[in-house]
Amino acid sequence: MLMPYFLHIREENGLFYALDLGGTNFRVLRVQLAGTEGRILQQEYEEVSIPQALMVGSNEELFDFIVAELASFITREGEGFHPLLGRQRELGFTFSFPVKQTSIDSGNLLKWTKGFAIKETVGKDVVEELQAAMGRHKLDMRVTALVNDTVGTLAGGRYWNEDVMVAVILGTGSNACYVERADAIPKWRGVLPKSGSTVINMEWGSFWSSHLPRTPVDDTLDADSLNPGDQGFEKLISGMYLGDIVRRILLKMAEEAALFGNTVPSNLFIPFILRTPDVSAMHADESADLKEVTRVLRVVFKTQASLRVRKIVVDVCDTVAGRAARLVAAGVVGILKKIGRDTVGNIDMARLKNNLAGKGRKTVVAMDGGLYEHYPKFRTYLNDTAVELLGKEAAEQVAVELSKDGSGIGAALLAASHSQYS
Ligand code: ADP
Ligand code: MG
Repeated sequence: MLMPYFLHIREENGLFYALDLGGTNFRVLRVQLAGTEGRILQQEYEEVSIPQALMVGSNEELFDFIVAELASFITREGEGFHPLLGRQRELGFTFSFPVKQTSIDSGNLLKWTKGFAIKETVGKDVVEELQAAMGRHKLDMRVTALVNDTVGTLAGGRYWNEDVMVAVILGTGSNACYVERADAIPKWRGVLPKSGSTVINMEWGSFWSSHLPRTPVDDTLDADSLNPGDQGFEKLISGMYLGDIVRRILLKMAEEAALFGNTVPSNLFIPFILRTPDVSAMHADESADLKEVTRVLRVVFKTQASLRVRKIVVDVCDTVAGRAARLVAAGVVGILKKIGRDTVGNIDMARLKNNLAGKGRKTVVAMDGGLYEHYPKFRTYLNDTAVELLGKEAAEQVAVELSKDGSGIGAALLAASHSQYS
């Protein structure tokens, strides 16, 4: 999908909002911008978890819920935030699902992913739906930008550092985008953008290749999911699924090799009962007797196991997270190759052109999402694999950085740069 967004947003001033609808939670956020010098004077945010029922309920209920939370957040606008008299508050809407974007502030939902399945929203303009819910709540606010979370993360990252060329989301789901030369895009129609570059939202969650290391466990996870046959890459790598892959493997081992004794613990049959944060916690357990593993097995599966079996459980976590992180690294390196930032030579050329030789500038990959943020072993595998694939020297020119809430801040920035008043 081509996204002709501006890649340079620095000068904006004033109060702007963002609403970030991801997969598990949504975030509401406000920033007070003060131009090139002051940048972000203040920011505040709140996170609300989305009740499961609303993810598969009705369109109106979902948007009403979101707008009610947003309205209540606005009533708590603290000191240091200054709405301008007589002006509507403006909002950037980060929407982390595949959309056919029709303009900066409109786009139709192509399909839900992750845990969402609300048929009536598919095909609709999600900005119109949000704006209509605002109308129902008498909330005087205007949505001025519809932003994919990867694009928001890229915009947020580039606000501080123009070396950010790639953004990757590793949260409930996964996606990536990158800065591409417009003339490298065969399907570009019309006038090339002034900057010569644009942003490609890859929707890599739906990437599929027969070379991907898919197992029968992945096949059954896919078949049992809300979107069978879809988002194949996402189902191998993202936070929504890693816990359930581990559960399915443990279930198989319990059934075929009596991993937990002669009866299979009944909770092992419950889809998604094991969450990725539990996997991360067990994987990080360095106690001699694997206390955390004992705790998770007790709390989640209502079972216990010998130390030998607990070690096997950790091995399973390691295998599943390791596979995911290595696949993400391969994806990132693929992007770097595409934009010619995967070898020392290429990077040096780029530096020379910008007269930056010797200044140690890098190609930066901005990462956002709970999986990347909260799973240290995953991060280590990702970084190690990137070094393995790029080689040590080229890898030194690449920095993978956490851009916390980059997607929300980026959306507020894009709302500002597309303000109806500017
Ligand atoms: P989204 O915007 O898609 O809702 P977030 O960026 O908020 O996603 O990330 C939430 C996801 O991050 C959760 O669904 C979970 O899979 C993952 N996550 C959260 N905490 C942890 C953790 N401690 N370890 C591993 N993964 C985690
Ligand atoms: Mg998100």
